[in-house]
Amino acid sequence: MPKDGKIQVLCWSELTEPKDIYPRGISGVIADYLNQRPAIAARTATLTDPDQGVGEEVLAETDVLIWFGHVRHNDVSDEAVARIKRHVEERGMGFLGLHSTHFAKPYKALMGTSCAWRAYVEDGKSAKILVADPQHPIAKGVQPFIIPREEWYGEPYDVPAPESVVFVGIYTDNREVARDGLTWTVGKGRVFYWRPGHETYPIYHMPEVLQIMENGVRWCAKWA
Ligand code: ZN
Repeated sequence: MPKDGKIQVLCWSELTEPKDIYPRGISGVIADYLNQRPAIAARTATLTDPDQGVGEEVLAETDVLIWFGHVRHNDVSDEAVARIKRHVEERGMGFLGLHSTHFAKPYKALMGTSCAWRAYVEDGKSAKILVADPQHPIAKGVQPFIIPREEWYGEPYDVPAPESVVFVGIYTDNREVARDGLTWTVGKGRVFYWRPGHETYPIYHMPEVLQIMENGVRWCAKWA
């Protein structure tokens, strides 16, 4: 049962996001939003914290770990990855991976595949996000929407077959379709990967995206 009757969320980022868009990181924006919800308590953590922000005692009090990594994946220790993997698989902690986190060590450890996409193209064009599984709790209250400027990743994406494809994205003048919201169960834990959110665009300030983060937290915590 979550502490104080609230879902305990740890928002982790390596903090390489542009400061003009994310002064306290993507993690700070998401935590501030989640803390407006009475049933959620969110904290932030980063690489330079003790035990890289994911020590045993911290993880033991975490129901859902949200992760943003991009260029410092290799700085995350094998010990930290092993702790995260154990908390997901054996204790049922949820893991929500954002965008370039597809190559983060803890995410790859949970997936067990290369997690590579075919292509990475930062053309700054708009993306159309469609709800592919409207019955899924992570889609609750989310209508199709446009991200004005985005980078796209090209399918195929080397991950295990997901339990659900909640969202798909239409990219680069309707020529590319990517699975943009994917769910799995790994051991006792739930994992959600959200693909959009290139850090040079203010995508995690968008209300639709923050709603998806909140829904993802509730689902990963098994409250939805
Ligand atoms: Zn990116």
